[in-house]
Amino acid sequence: MSSYAGKTVIVIGLGKSGNAAAKLLVRRGAKVIAFDESPTATAPLPQVTLVTGPLKDEFWKGYDADAIVVSPGVPLNRPQLVAAREAGLEMYGEIELAWRTMPAGAGPILGITGTNGKSTTTALLGELVRQHRPRTFVGGNLGTAFTLAYEDPAEKPYDLHVIELSSFQLEGIVDAAFQGSAILNLTPDHLDRYADHRAYGAAKARIFTNAPVGGFAIVNADDPDVVALSRKAQVPVYAFTLDARRTNAGFKGLAVGTEGKFTFVFGAMPSFTLNNRALRGAHNVQNAMAAALMAHLAGIPHDAIQRGLDSFPGLPHRLEFVRALDGVEWVNDSKATNVDSSIVALKALTGPVWLIAGGKGKGAPYAPMIEAGRGKVRGVLTIGKDAPVIAQAYAGVCDVFDCLTLDAAVTRAHALAKPGDTVLLSPACASYDQFNHFEHRGDTFKSLVRSLTQETTR
Ligand code: ADP
Repeated sequence: MSSYAGKTVIVIGLGKSGNAAAKLLVRRGAKVIAFDESPTATAPLPQVTLVTGPLKDEFWKGYDADAIVVSPGVPLNRPQLVAAREAGLEMYGEIELAWRTMPAGAGPILGITGTNGKSTTTALLGELVRQHRPRTFVGGNLGTAFTLAYEDPAEKPYDLHVIELSSFQLEGIVDAAFQGSAILNLTPDHLDRYADHRAYGAAKARIFTNAPVGGFAIVNADDPDVVALSRKAQVPVYAFTLDARRTNAGFKGLAVGTEGKFTFVFGAMPSFTLNNRALRGAHNVQNAMAAALMAHLAGIPHDAIQRGLDSFPGLPHRLEFVRALDGVEWVNDSKATNVDSSIVALKALTGPVWLIAGGKGKGAPYAPMIEAGRGKVRGVLTIGKDAPVIAQAYAGVCDVFDCLTLDAAVTRAHALAKPGDTVLLSPACASYDQFNHFEHRGDTFKSLVRSLTQETTR
């Protein structure tokens, strides 16, 4: 465990993880200077010296700093940070700081990354392992920042740590070692920050870098880019697939799944059932296989894994069941802020769907959504800024109702839907034109839906 007592540490960026890092450092006796561009930033603790405004050249001068901890929101290739490294300053991210300050006796880390499904898989893995190891920390990019696990130096060591890792967080690791690591998938993303898809993949592959002896890696066998990255892993690689014809070749073990169940094609070859509404859809079969493989390799018994698969409550705003009313199911998928996510949702649902979509579009064509919902989508209720573009895409495909607001869309869908139908909010757009964020949009939807009254009293 690194000691920070008497050290001076600069923290760059005071978002969620920068704040957490600064707090941990103060509680470990460090002198902390925090830099944040926003003039309205506030110090997380009075002991933290705050410097606001754009990061100046040689910003570190005069502080005699021992290290710089950089928030994931700040690219490490910013010229000022490159210059600081060249000047000999040690630099790393919040995950590395958390790892360095873990107490003796703390259990291993299971890390999860990928373009999509990180939060679901992390929360699910937490549910699986807690059946057997209740004292497990679950957090990272999702929920509680990793540094907050041991912010209190007297905190009892956790048996296991299940951590969601973004590519930005992985850029900032140096020696942090993950006993188990999973890369779920890799699709073009964050190309504003990475030179190309390869650079983005390289950031994700850092999850394997320091895996200890006895470690393991889990990859998506159906994603060639992820399989290629796993060739860098120095530990046994296990894979999961939705393709029943795929063999174990090249992997230490394979999990093969389809809607409703999956099997480990190694060892005692156990099968697991997926009877949980929170895990519907092929994408969730993948998430479940990744989590189950990880739990198994971390020593969690099969019956505990099955119990966790059954009890997982799901995450809010991801195909979240809101209520059934007059035989109509209402589903909140507000997290679908792009077309790809709405496609995943449409594929996961069966039966007639009334789709509420729209918001601040990201410029991607809506046509692929039509294919994913063919034969299912009865009508589209559009909201927000991109409503006309979506209406145009669906013209001639199904009925389109321009509702402008979510409120109006819910009222309209309530009037249109018949028993057996599903009303799905899966906007395929960002929410910022009408809401503060996707959670705000989803919560608004849920409260509108909960206040609907039954047909008989309408
Ligand atoms: P992340 O934390 O990576 O953003 P989430 O678990 O929050 O992932 O899921 C976000 C969205 O990504 C979901 O609403 C769904 O549309 C899609 N998704 C989830 N899991 C997968 C997967 N395994 N493959 C592809 N898309 C997925």
